[in-house]
Amino acid sequence: MTSFFSDVKEAPLDPIFGITTSFNADPRSNKVNLGVGVYRTANLETAVLHTVVKAELLLSELGPSREYLPMDGDARFVARMAEIVFGKPMEEIDGLYGTQTIGGTGGLRIVGEFLKGKLSKEVIYLPDPTWANHNAIFSAAGLRVEKYPFYDPATYSLAHHALLAELNRLPHGSAVLFHAACHNPTGVDPTLAQWEEIAAIVKERSLLTIFDSAYQGLGDGIDEDAKAMRLFQRQGLQFFACTSNSKNFGLYAERIGALFINTRDEQEAANVGSQVRTIVRAAYSNPACHGAWIIEAILSNKRLRAEWLGELSAMCSRISEMREALAEALTQMRPDRNFTALLKQRGL
Ligand code: PMP
Repeated sequence: MTSFFSDVKEAPLDPIFGITTSFNADPRSNKVNLGVGVYRTANLETAVLHTVVKAELLLSELGPSREYLPMDGDARFVARMAEIVFGKPMEEIDGLYGTQTIGGTGGLRIVGEFLKGKLSKEVIYLPDPTWANHNAIFSAAGLRVEKYPFYDPATYSLAHHALLAELNRLPHGSAVLFHAACHNPTGVDPTLAQWEEIAAIVKERSLLTIFDSAYQGLGDGIDEDAKAMRLFQRQGLQFFACTSNSKNFGLYAERIGALFINTRDEQEAANVGSQVRTIVRAAYSNPACHGAWIIEAILSNKRLRAEWLGELSAMCSRISEMREALAEALTQMRPDRNFTALLKQRGL
């Protein structure tokens, strides 16, 4: 019998999940997986946050219905996340549309579809280097992926001048992605003053910004890690912000995040939202409820919210301690080299 599938070749391993597969298959006990951006305790566990356990107990008592969520997901969750991202109530931000997404990845893919299908963009500019999946996500949405200089390997820091020069060379209206904080993989972020320079060029050349915010709260805190998005919002720039709750709530497997689109006014926000919903409806119809409800239960409860901020700051401190220990160990092995850049970099 002939097979429909005989010509299908095995696809290459995903660069990040592929390392996890090799890691699991490796019999050695003294191994550490540095390939995937997942927070682990000293016992190498990805523990469930205490606040998440408490929220789940509350939810099990309430026993909410599992009727479909709307295409934009749970509006209460989206409003809570808008406040975390922008530092003020959603209704105070004129022209802001928000929707619940399937993790940060889901939001990025919707943005890709929107850029290509609704705004007729052909190209997206990504930092060099960037999270490996960015290339796959935006290529799958039909965009051509180009790079802009971001990291200077000679100084282990931002390629500040090359970055600004390249942004100044991009065609007007180009779509450009920035990591909001804790740049993956370099851990290098612009300072507020550098973000102001970037914002000035974005305005001048009418660049269309896409923020990828996967680590809010794991760098220098909730407010500090959102400073670029808040600056762009204050300056009245239009942009997309894809946020993820995988890391800051430890809800990796719940696949929960949000996408915000800052438009000029309420009418534009409504129109843009209606177009996003056409993408969502044809892709997965509507998102799942559980992760959104956990986050809403934590953020709407003063005590749980404070406890969550404490858990987040404990994760942050441990990441800093690990950076210090790594820098120290490397310095002992190679006293001729300088590893202090590791202490300045942020994120996983
Ligand atoms: N963007 C960046 C930069 C990331 O590192 C990650 C996750 N590693 C994501 C997006 C995707 O996040 P999620 O798991 O929520 O889809």
